[in-house]
Amino acid sequence: MRLPSLFNDLSNLLFPRKCLICQGRLNPSEEHLCLNCLSQLPRTLYHKRRGNEMEQHFYGSIPVERATSYLFYTPESPVHHILHAIKYYGAKKLAIYMGHCMSTHLSEKEDNFLDGIDFIIPVPLSKERMRKRGYNQSQLLAEGLGQSTGIPVLSDLLIRTVDNPTQTHLNRRERWENVQGIFKTTTQAHALLQGKHILLIDDVATTGATLSNCAQAILKDIPNCRLSIATLALASM
Ligand SMILES: [Zn+2]
Repeated sequence: MRLPSLFNDLSNLLFPRKCLICQGRLNPSEEHLCLNCLSQLPRTLYHKRRGNEMEQHFYGSIPVERATSYLFYTPESPVHHILHAIKYYGAKKLAIYMGHCMSTHLSEKEDNFLDGIDFIIPVPLSKERMRKRGYNQSQLLAEGLGQSTGIPVLSDLLIRTVDNPTQTHLNRRERWENVQGIFKTTTQAHALLQGKHILLIDDVATTGATLSNCAQAILKDIPNCRLSIATLALASM
């Protein structure tokens, strides 16, 4: 037995790791969620369906190649615990792990949503919010996805120019106004992204306002790139 695995077994015995959802004890092979809870997460399976609800958010405004969301979000579902832990309780490893889960789910042989993607770009946080939270949860998801797939993650090419208020309590129209024109690309992006297929990543989509504005900013500066979109969860208003 190798020392690190002996150490892991020992620390697991002394400080048992628990499933975030059912609080049951995790097996050594499980991370964050037990297999039972992981298998019961409400998946959308939208990556297998063209014209799905996620793609419909962008119809008529943004020419996206394809769009999907891994999970359905409702306030009473276990997905709520995951998102809450990632966003407010500093669960950075969980965010990366959910990126791995997304990658496994989206890259099934017959329906590989990630086929042909050149770069992954996370939705950026403002400098102010980055300073307060210390990390960008969408970037961690993107890193998990990048680690599993080998697709490079580019986190500095799209920036948020305004520290806009949180979207949580805004209605549909206010959400659009809140993020209008607040993203821009860097000069480095112009050189790197020409003709490339980019996957935009965010934690939750509700109206698609934030993602649409990110996409608009990229397409305005680099009109010949192609865009796809994926989020960890999809909420309905
Ligand atoms: Zn569980």
